[in-house]
Amino acid sequence: MFRIPFERVNWITSSFLIGTALIALIGAPIYLFNFGLNWFQFGMFFFYLCATMMSITVGYHRLFSHLSFKAKKPVKLFTLIFGACAFENSCLNWSSDHRHHHKHVDHDDDPYDISKGFFWAHIGWLLFKLDPEPPMDNVADLRKDKLVMWQHKYTHWIGFVVGLVIPAALGYGYNSLVGADPMNGALGGFLIAGVTRIVIAQHLTFFINSLCHTVGRQPYSTKHSARDSAIMAILTFGEGYHNYHHEFQHDYRNGVKPWQWDPSKWTIWTLSKLGLVEGLRRVPDGKILLAEMGEARRRVEDRINEIKATPGYTQRSAEMLTQVSEKLAANYHELEKAVADRVQLSREALQTWQNETRELMRQLPRISKPTIA
Ligand SMILES: [Zn+2]
Ligand SMILES: [Zn+2]
Repeated sequence: MFRIPFERVNWITSSFLIGTALIALIGAPIYLFNFGLNWFQFGMFFFYLCATMMSITVGYHRLFSHLSFKAKKPVKLFTLIFGACAFENSCLNWSSDHRHHHKHVDHDDDPYDISKGFFWAHIGWLLFKLDPEPPMDNVADLRKDKLVMWQHKYTHWIGFVVGLVIPAALGYGYNSLVGADPMNGALGGFLIAGVTRIVIAQHLTFFINSLCHTVGRQPYSTKHSARDSAIMAILTFGEGYHNYHHEFQHDYRNGVKPWQWDPSKWTIWTLSKLGLVEGLRRVPDGKILLAEMGEARRRVEDRINEIKATPGYTQRSAEMLTQVSEKLAANYHELEKAVADRVQLSREALQTWQNETRELMRQLPRISKPTIA
């Protein structure tokens, strides 16, 4: 029978996560029912949610954990302060855990290893002590950054003051100005832009570790459990293209296709135009396409093996699939050579390869239906 391992419960973190969730689920609806939500309270909630989430995705994740671009002090300071307001530990701790996650994905040393189950990857790893605690031996570079170390020292204080006290004070001030009850305003700021926003931001971040390793497609690699999903990208401010991200973790983009929803990428790009960030790292288009073509080849090989294992498979289907496989392999090797020789590939040439791969893959379901001869 399932038994909670009480000896391993992380009491402080568990009390915080469960306590804030209860306040958001019970306290906030009671407040909203009694006092409603004015535009000021809603505006604060919206600003705080975006600022917190963006600080996690742009700051904690893409800047500090992956060094996918360089940032000037104002950007670092903003993301460190509002990152602390997410109450997801200091940037130093977060980045260390996250680097372990990438290095050991789906294995024991991955702190949020999805192979231990959805609940574990989402929140279990925080409610219970990790055994053993992952060593913080992979953040020597961040330890040299004074701002990161300042935030590491005061992270809970920064989160408490900026993330909870200030929204309450602003709510108090606004209600005083418009002649309403100031304490009501303070309570609203604390409950909505404060606690409810923390709970929402946390679970949206946790989804990246749970749902983004469960739901979606794997167009770039099946060597790990990470997946691409547009719905998850909308929920996570662009982090839902997680299969791409695990394959090319140093790219400042997660959604690389023009139609993909990645507001974190757009923010970084805009900041670069304003001169606030620089050195944006991008994986060349040829290399990205090569990964997609590699996966397409693997899927065709799987189908060939599948069809050959079906009793009574037609020789013709297997032959047609082999032809598709050979064509894909020829294109793959041609592109592989061009990428290795660092040939400047035109957009048109890449598009042709991409279209041909798609066209070949479209034939797959038609060919591979096993027909009993
Ligand atoms: Zn991941
Ligand atoms: Zn990452």
